[in-house]
Amino acid sequence: MIVVEHVTKNYGKKTAVNDLSFTVRPGVVTGFLGPNGAGKSTTMRMIVGLDRPDTGSVTVGGKPYRDHVAPLHEVGALLEARAIHPGRSAYNHLLALATTTGIPRRRITEVLDLVGLSTVGRKRAGAFSLGMGQRLGIAAALLGDPDVVILDEPVNGLDPEGIVWIRNLLKSLADEGRTVFVSSHLISEIALVAEHLIVVGRGELIADTSVSEMQRAA
Ligand code: ADP
Ligand code: ADP
Repeated sequence: MIVVEHVTKNYGKKTAVNDLSFTVRPGVVTGFLGPNGAGKSTTMRMIVGLDRPDTGSVTVGGKPYRDHVAPLHEVGALLEARAIHPGRSAYNHLLALATTTGIPRRRITEVLDLVGLSTVGRKRAGAFSLGMGQRLGIAAALLGDPDVVILDEPVNGLDPEGIVWIRNLLKSLADEGRTVFVSSHLISEIALVAEHLIVVGRGELIADTSVSEMQRAA
């Protein structure tokens, strides 16, 4: 479970997140919807512990990650602009991550399989399509078998088949009891993969509602 309580985050004079409070529960795919610049990535970075709130608190499974990044076996994240070395194979990208975090190697083949990249594991990540790059990022997020999965714009670059694939993957992660939190700037996109929605605008909460409720209101 993720609990965001009265969080404010400023970058200089710019307020990225303003007194934001919400809870993300396990077992349900929760979407994080808002236009570009609404504060979604900033909030996700604070959940992962890559950034810290100016005021308020963020806890994950009851723990705050104020002073360090969450370990991969607790929180797995696909964040925007996380660099993938283009000359490295998908396998070696995951191997580097596994080695630095003490995750067993057999887990690499498991996650490559889970995201449908097992046949291209030895190919250079630089030769991947946008969708394959997204899958590799998702594989990295799942490497530590985390209870909490944070994906920033994971549907970006996926074709319709990829969207169905991610919907099923997220659903199965949630059904296993994980906390799954997924951002998008498109209601049409997020409605395909999430059941519950946290909607933000200008860093503030606009709605905390089920997707079906939201669609009825639209
Ligand atoms: P979203 O993910 O919803 O597009 P962001 O969290 O990326 O929104 O950005 C929220 C606001 O904070 C935007 O106005 C953005 O320009 C600003 N912002 C985000 N990160 C930084 C940063 N590192 N330095 C300065 N401003 C930032
Ligand atoms: P199962 O029916 O045993 O869950 P899966 O193919 O879903 O079969 O999973 C195979 C292995 O991968 C299991 O050990 C499971 O715990 C693990 N696993 C499944 N999904 C994930 C995930 N999203 N992140 C980490 N580990 C996962």
